Amino acid sequence: MVLISSNESGSPNQAAKRRKNAAQQALRRTEKDRSPERAKETPPGHRLGATGLPVLRKLHVENLGFSPWRYFANAAKDGNGPRNERKLISQMKTLTTFLACFLIVACARSAPATLATNATPATPQAAAIADTPPAFNASRAMQYVKEIVAFGPRPIGSENHKKVENYILSHLKGDTVEQDNFEITASEGKFPVHNIIAKFPGTRDGIIVIASHYDTNWPLRNINYLGANDGASSSALLLEIANQLRGARREGCSVWLLWDDAEESMKLPWDDPESLYGVRHLAQKWQDDGTIKKVKAFLLEDLIGDADLNVDRDQQSTVWLEDLILQAATRVGYQSHFFARTIYETDDHVPFIQRGVPAADLIDADYGYNNVFWHTTQDTVDKLSAKSLAIVGTVTLETVRLLDQRP
Ligand code: ZN
Repeated sequence: MVLISSNESGSPNQAAKRRKNAAQQALRRTEKDRSPERAKETPPGHRLGATGLPVLRKLHVENLGFSPWRYFANAAKDGNGPRNERKLISQMKTLTTFLACFLIVACARSAPATLATNATPATPQAAAIADTPPAFNASRAMQYVKEIVAFGPRPIGSENHKKVENYILSHLKGDTVEQDNFEITASEGKFPVHNIIAKFPGTRDGIIVIASHYDTNWPLRNINYLGANDGASSSALLLEIANQLRGARREGCSVWLLWDDAEESMKLPWDDPESLYGVRHLAQKWQDDGTIKKVKAFLLEDLIGDADLNVDRDQQSTVWLEDLILQAATRVGYQSHFFARTIYETDDHVPFIQRGVPAADLIDADYGYNNVFWHTTQDTVDKLSAKSLAIVGTVTLETVRLLDQRP
């Protein structure tokens, strides 16, 4: 993934980079950008976040709140006045009783108690969906992270990379696995690239793809850069999701898990033509063979293990799919970890977005204070938590379930 790029100028690629930079710079805008004039430009229903970018309003909670005092004051203002005080108090009591009953019923139908400590009451529509919580074994997922990291740096073309490929495949024995193998010619030479796809069929038409890259950055190959969060956490998450999907044919869409390769840029800072090799190849292949028309949603996981988890809303992602992720997060009580910040992210979802596939990047692009751990030797297992894997794993599975319900 890339959040920050350079300021060079010249080629068409660099023009694209400049556009990206403009969005990046928006993230760093200061108070003067949040002027009243700018606020006026914000579309209705949005407000400006701390970044200066619009942040989607959260769940309308503030608009739904009932204030007895406001009710009383309005009634007084309307001319009913204190003379009707007793009548108003009686009406308030009735309303309070009604609201209390409503909340009791709504809470009883919301997400399970073990997950619902932060949950807002489920909507009637959400309550109609099956109430069994998605299962996710976070401690096992964390064990997978540690095992992947234990192989050491895994840049494309390396022995460690081959070991991690075999490690992933060894966890998919008995599953339907497709391997998409090809060779790239980068400025640094020729490299093998290996995408791994595990397919779990469903009873409904349509495919939901959940993806993660598993390589570490090639330019950082000699500094013992381990990518515990960047690549290992999300790849481990997919291995545990596979455990949940394995077995009976699922009621819903097919789910394909994709461990994609060569996401990382061959040059630093980020270089668009020399990155995202695996997904670019696969998106084109699926476009050529017609598979892409069946892909209902592409959910990307990247940098999701950070113990201080704040998944960002991404402006390149499909808006309704991001909204669905927030709905899923709310249903399972984890919404406080989602979408406090809005970013513009170039990542593995982009080749699918470009082909009209609804896609979303589940990413926390602020890893350590001011992203200080990202692409450094500090990206190690001790910065991660099983809880974060549980949050993203559960929300991902819940999103899949909500996608199953869509026509
Ligand atoms: Zn990376």
